[in-house]
Amino acid sequence: MTVHSLESLVQAVLASSKSNDWRRAVNEWVVVDLEEEPAGTGVCVCGQTNLVKLFTIKNELNGAVLYPIGSVCVNKFGREDLDRQVSVFSDLHALRKALVEGQDVALTSEFFSRALLEYLLDSGAFTPDQWNFSDGERDYDFLAKMFNKRNKDTISTRQQQKIYMLLRNKVFPFVLTQ
Ligand SMILES: [Zn+2]
Repeated sequence: MTVHSLESLVQAVLASSKSNDWRRAVNEWVVVDLEEEPAGTGVCVCGQTNLVKLFTIKNELNGAVLYPIGSVCVNKFGREDLDRQVSVFSDLHALRKALVEGQDVALTSEFFSRALLEYLLDSGAFTPDQWNFSDGERDYDFLAKMFNKRNKDTISTRQQQKIYMLLRNKVFPFVLTQ
């Protein structure tokens, strides 16, 4: 098993970036996809073997795509927003898996995070309807507020029902089509 090589990573990234300078080049990229390969046969662009989580990153300036790349290498870009994208994609993947397996999914930190809820908002999961007065952000605000409650016992039955409806009618279908 080879280990992550910073040099190989830098070479691979620079070869597909507009800038020739690593510190500038890292700003050209976004995380666009995650696939999982439980058998661990994936090989990172840096040469690291046994990858299970295979991320795809895309260069926003020239459209170049690097795949597969491991989370350790994405973290080496030194960008908090990319690290956040990595964790959101991982959460999204775990949530989809739980849904496909028919697990009982609730609005808890086992399946959700603040960043994931924000991603769902930004991606259009909260469609406008008569109940949110055609403003999907109201759905997000409600779910985020409920998610952040430290004492879940203070959530009323009515609120529980609304959470359930939003998850079932908006979040789950959206996640399953991702
Ligand atoms: Zn790597």
